[in-house]
Amino acid sequence: MRYFITGTAGFIGFHLARKLLQDGHEVVGFDGMTAYYSLRLKEARNAGLAQFPSFRFVQGMLEDRASLEKAVKAFNPDVIVHLAAQAGVRYSLENPRAYLDSNLIGSWNILEIAREIGVGHLMLASTSSVYGANPGIPFREIDKADEPLTFYAASKKAMEVMAHSYAHLYKVPTTAFRFFTVYGPWGRPDMALFKFVKAMLDDQEIEIYGEGKMSRDFTYIDDLIDSIIDLSGIAPSESNRVADIDTLSAVGPFRTVNLGGGQPVGLLEFVEVIEKTMGKRARRKMLPMQKGDVPRTFASPSLLLALTGRKPETGLDEGVDAFVRWYMEHRSEID
Ligand code: NAD
Repeated sequence: MRYFITGTAGFIGFHLARKLLQDGHEVVGFDGMTAYYSLRLKEARNAGLAQFPSFRFVQGMLEDRASLEKAVKAFNPDVIVHLAAQAGVRYSLENPRAYLDSNLIGSWNILEIAREIGVGHLMLASTSSVYGANPGIPFREIDKADEPLTFYAASKKAMEVMAHSYAHLYKVPTTAFRFFTVYGPWGRPDMALFKFVKAMLDDQEIEIYGEGKMSRDFTYIDDLIDSIIDLSGIAPSESNRVADIDTLSAVGPFRTVNLGGGQPVGLLEFVEVIEKTMGKRARRKMLPMQKGDVPRTFASPSLLLALTGRKPETGLDEGVDAFVRWYMEHRSEID
């Protein structure tokens, strides 16, 4: 199959492209190499993908419609996986404009191009953040999710509803994933695991928000990639609708799917797992909840299970161990 993936210099896009290439698929990666975090890390991921003869990389920004369109049309993919975005909850308080440009204009460009080529399946990266402050427990796709607490979440919700309208109008089969705190090797330096491990190695304090009372449904990267690949072959349609739990729209082939295992872990327990793995105690700095933080995330994996027969299962011990081993090995190349 031919996959066009945006965001391949990023954490999730890199892993997805690498797995698809290992499985014998053709991949074109598109990424703007933005300076949100270490370019050395993005370049190291690019170098990993460049080893595959069936990979081609195009550097460009999503907002530049002409270069995006040229890259997609020259390849004519079976599937588009749109992962490039301005990510990060906290940064959206500092620079909302970046979210408008990348996540609204950029995603709209993807929708337009997907409709023009009549792509077989359009897959989009949304987030658990769209559930806002007080969703039911666990978070289910069919529940209301339209009270975002940050501009990041708002931009992803806007992408979901724009995509819904395009699926309805132009019949582009579209899946919007809602990812739940993804972690693992080659992960993002702005996320807790990376920051905590780095700080502990440097004998710095780790900053624990919400006085440690928050919990997160952590998803190990390999599990997430398996789910994305499983779902890429299940474009939403009436024939694979899952009664009762599917958001599959009555007016178009659009669905949202939680990608999370449904096993939230408290932040303090998370820190203890890191301490055990590293054989070192962290110096904790307890801080209040930050603006826009949600107290917990908790995926219902029922729809994912019904569609693919499996859900994220990797234990936190195993996943944190894989991250720490990767970080120790690659630290000098990426910091
Ligand atoms: P990432 O920041 O590592 O990767 C995103 C990539 O997109 C980067 O390489 C960046 O250079 C590129 N990019 C950003 N803006 C661009 C633009 N305007 N044009 C072209 N390229 C651009 O993030 P990630 O963790 O790999 O996340 C992938 C997707 O999943 C994002 O859409 C993110 O919002 C979503 N998501 C991630 C998580 C998580 O836990 N990692 C959770 C929820 C949702």
